[in-house]
This record gives sequence, structure tokens and C-alpha cells, in this order.
Amino acid sequence: MGRMYGGAGMAGSGFRRMKFDDNLEKPNISKAMLLRIFNYFKPYWKQTLLVLLILLMTSVLGLLPPIFIQQIVDHALPGKNMRLLVTLVLASLGTTLASGLLGVLQTYLNSFISQSIVYDLKNQMFRHLQQMPLQFYSAVKQGEVITRMTSDISGIQGVFNSTVVSFASNLFILSSTVITLLVMNWKLALLGIVIVPLFLIPTRKMGSVRWKLAKETQEKMAEQNQIIQETLSISGYLLMKLFTKEKQEYAGFQAVNKESTRLQIRESMAGRWFFMTLSTFTSMGPMIIYLYGGYLFIHGEISVGAIIGFVALLGRIYGPFSQLTNLYVDIKRSTALFERIFDYFDMEPAITDKPEAKPADLAMCDIVFDSVGFTYQQDKQALQNISFTADAGTMTALVGPSGAGKTTITNLIPRLYEAGTGSIRIGGTDIRDMTLDSLRSQIGLVTQDSYLFNGTIKENLLYANSGASYEEIVAACKAAYIHDFIMDFSDGYETVVGNRGIKLSGGEKQRISIARVLLKNPPIIIMDEATSSLDTASEYYVQQAMGLLLRNKTSIVIAHRLSTIMAADKILVVQGGTIVEEGRHEELIVKNGVYTDLYNKQFERKKLEADA
Ligand code: ADP
Repeated sequence: MGRMYGGAGMAGSGFRRMKFDDNLEKPNISKAMLLRIFNYFKPYWKQTLLVLLILLMTSVLGLLPPIFIQQIVDHALPGKNMRLLVTLVLASLGTTLASGLLGVLQTYLNSFISQSIVYDLKNQMFRHLQQMPLQFYSAVKQGEVITRMTSDISGIQGVFNSTVVSFASNLFILSSTVITLLVMNWKLALLGIVIVPLFLIPTRKMGSVRWKLAKETQEKMAEQNQIIQETLSISGYLLMKLFTKEKQEYAGFQAVNKESTRLQIRESMAGRWFFMTLSTFTSMGPMIIYLYGGYLFIHGEISVGAIIGFVALLGRIYGPFSQLTNLYVDIKRSTALFERIFDYFDMEPAITDKPEAKPADLAMCDIVFDSVGFTYQQDKQALQNISFTADAGTMTALVGPSGAGKTTITNLIPRLYEAGTGSIRIGGTDIRDMTLDSLRSQIGLVTQDSYLFNGTIKENLLYANSGASYEEIVAACKAAYIHDFIMDFSDGYETVVGNRGIKLSGGEKQRISIARVLLKNPPIIIMDEATSSLDTASEYYVQQAMGLLLRNKTSIVIAHRLSTIMAADKILVVQGGTIVEEGRHEELIVKNGVYTDLYNKQFERKKLEADA
């Protein structure tokens, strides 16, 4: 089965495989892979069958005009038979029209099948990505998820056409034409077919040369992009300027630029040579037919019409021949596309409901950490042996230097990450035995940098509780000390926030986020106080809002403010991934330990600043 997406080794081999190199020289396509791809096509088998039928019909219809021409030349014209001439011309026109109409239908079916597969894949990917753990998003490169969702999946829309349709239509055209040619005159037919290898060999050779050149060009382009990215970005620019490396960087860039230009010229020349060879060889076919067919005509063995019809039909086999020999490349390219998508599907969400998980009621429950350990990366332990109890209805404050592990502790409670060792119990039940839905819906999370999506303030608030009435929204915002601020905008609650609307300060965003959690009204609150310096007024409002938010709730607050730790029922001092001290402010301050130190450095200073 697929890779597990959990715990350790996140930045390991799994991610390296997701690079965007379009590597067609990957191992051969496995049967399992094809079967997996086939499953996506399966729901559309009826439409596919119809497409095949249409292709069969058009390939047969395509045979008719050359045959009609033969009849015109051999019978209608010499016999001066106007009726036959008109009939044949009309029949020719009719077949062309019928082929055209079938072509339209086929295009519709093609795009229906392709787009339906893209639709299915996109939905499946979205659903899958929703299930991925937070860890996935912190490890994945920025923009990669979007690329996978958009361009990679969209690439699939060409697959049906370049594989199934291409294969079937070329095969049908080729076989029907070859059979017809053989029936018309097997000697001429063999002559026409004999020259096929003549142009297939250069086609294949040229194909691989062009492929190699294209790959080299792509590599050079990537190199070029990297130089641009490294030197023409804020940090790269500073580095370059401060170490006066402009000349050196420019020389490097110039060299790569020159090489890629040279490669691109070679690539287009290879293309030109290829088409020249191809057209020379394909025009050789008719010449040979005219020569030998002419000889047969002079000896009275065949008619002029037969030669003309024959040459017209012969033109139908060279294209499909060369396309069929190149089909393998298209199939490989398509499988590579699917493979990149499957790479994502194979990363299994690590955090899911146990089959026996039950919904839990977390109202007035204590939260107990029992010897909890956690690791982000294999060798570096972020948390060890964390044990504490956050009593029901009380506020527990986490304090400690940055990087101590406070955020990690809080993220374990809604199971954004899974505790590695030990257990977390809420109201006596292990959180792994509760359904994720019931657990998360009863926890309110207020993060430092509260995320508001692009939309109105009201929409952002309703995200927490879509059924809330206007009165409830206003009440929550009043409690969060943000109502008056909102009402100052001319659009009030309909004001658009985010990058298409107004920009809010950290404190304002956090207050909206508090209002949002108030609307959700969960029994457990986890809060990360904003560290960004708020002015005294904002700080006062946030404090007031917090007081209401946390009343009668079990809460865990990552505290950065003196007023918060003073109000806390219990303070946990975290350092280096463990809890080093525990108690109330008055108890801890007299210990002259880590807390006293921290207090003197961090909180006392803030107090002074606030007083100033
Ligand atoms: P705090 O909230 O106390 O500042 P964190 O819980 O954010 O500390 O971080 C604890 C440790 O875990 C730090 O050493 C940090 O570098 C590491 N860490 C945090 N998040 C990740 C992550 N997504 N991947 C790897 N390491 C992480």
C-alpha cells in the first residue's frame, strides 16, 4: 500500500519523488499502474465504445473518396456519363459531410470523457488533500499543491485523445487502407508498404534526438531559473551586492543562457531536418507507384483511375504509421502524469477515526497529558514526557521561550498532529477514541495570526456557526470588543476583509477571531495570544474579550502578557520540550527558577513598557 503520512521522516524520500521533472525515462509502465489508470476511464466505457465506433466508421468513410475518384476517371469521364459523374461527386461530398458530422460528435464525446476524468480527479484530490495532516502542509513546497491541483490534473485532459483515440483511429485507418490497397492491387500495395521502414527509421531516430535536446534545454532553463531566483530576490540580491558578486553572477548567467539558446536552435533545426526527411520519403511512395503503376498501365494491366485512387489511398497510411510508432512516448508521458497524481493519493492521511471511535461530549471536562512525547523529524524530539492536567473550567497558561514547544502542545489537542508516545485524555477518554468531528467541533482555536478569508466580516463570522442570527453575531462582537470598530465602516458587517478588502491589524483580527469562537461556543478553548505589540488600548480590548471568551471554559492559553499569566489558574513553564515548572504566579515567582528568570526578562519589561 501507499506511504503513511505521519510522524517521522516527513521531508524524506516521499517528497523528493514529487519533483516536476517530466522524466519519461522512468521504469517501464507496470500492469498495476495501467489498471489503476484504467479505473478512471471505466465509468465512461459507454462513451468510449461510441468513440471507437465513430472512429471505425470515419476510417471506412475515408476510403470512399479515392474509390469514387477512380470511378470518375475510369468510367464517368471516358463514358461521358454525366449522371454517373454527378452521382459520384455528390457521393464524395456526402461522405465528407458524414465524416465531418461524426467528427463533431467525436469531439464532444472526447471532451466529455476527458473533462469528466479531470472532474473526478480534481474532486478526489481536493477531498484527499483536506484529509492530509497539518504536517503535510508545513513540509510541502509552496505552490506545489496548486500546481498538482491545476496543471498536473489538467494535463490529464489530453490523455484520452493522445492515447486511446490516437491508437484506435490510426489502427483503424491503417488496417482498413492496407486491406483496401491489397485488394485493389497487391503488387502495388506491397511496393507502397515496403518503403514505410525507410521513413520510420529516421522518424524514430530523430524523435529520440529531439527528445534528448528538449530535455537538455529544459535542464538549462531550470538552471537559469534557479540563478534568477537566487540572485534576483531580496535576500539573494543583498548577498550579491554585499559581496560584490555581480560580475561573477552575470558571467554564470550568461554561460547558461548561451547554452540554452544554442540548444534551442539545435532543437528547431532537428525538427526541420526531420520534416524534410519525412516529406522526401513520403513523396517517394507515390513516385514509385507512378513508375511501376505506369509500367503496368502501359502493359494494359491496370487503369489510370486505379493509379490515381491508389496514390490517394497510399497517402493515408504513412501518417498513421509514424504516429503509431510514436504512441509509446505519448503513453509514457501520460502515465508519468498519472504517476505524479497518484504520488499524492498514495500519501495516506495519518490521522483518521478509529473504527470504534465514538462521539464525545467535552463540556466541563479536564484535559490530561500523560507522558506525551512528539517528534517532527526523526532525530529531533520536540516534546518529551509532558504530563499535566488542565482542570475543567479553569485557565492554564503555557509560558516559555520561543521554540520551547508550546504551540506543539496545543496542536496535539485537536489532533492536528498525533502524539507520538503517551496519551491525551479529555474527561477521562483518550482523544484517539473520539471521533475527530466531535473532538474538533468542541474546541475553539484562536491562533496568533488569525486567518480571515476573503469575504465580508459577517461571512467570516458565520464560518463558525452558519445558523447564527444577526443578533447573535452582534452579541459575540460586542463581547469581543470589536462591534463598535466594525460599525465604524460604512458597510458595517458587510465590509470585505482580506487582500481584496480592508486590512486589519493583528489585534483587530484576533478580536474578530475571538468573536468567531464565541459564536461557535465550544467548551474547550485553545488560544495563542498575539505577540505582536498591541497598543495599550487594543491590548485592553483583547484582554476584556478574552475574559468573556474563557469564562466557564476549560482553556489553554499560550501567554505572552503579564495580565494573562496573572489571571491563569495554573502556569506551565515549558523549556526545551518539557515542562520545567508548574504552579501559580505567586508560587513560581518565589522559586527563583526558570519562571522567575523568564518573568524578569519578558513580562516585567512588558509591564514597564505598558506603564510608561
Ligand atoms: P513555541 O510555540 O514554544 O515557540 P513550537 O512548538 O512552535 O515552539 O516548536 C517547538 C520545536 O519544534 C521547535 O524546535 C521548532 O523548530 C520545531 N517545529 C515546530 N514546527 C515544526 C514543523 N512543522 N516541522 C518541524 N519542526 C517543527
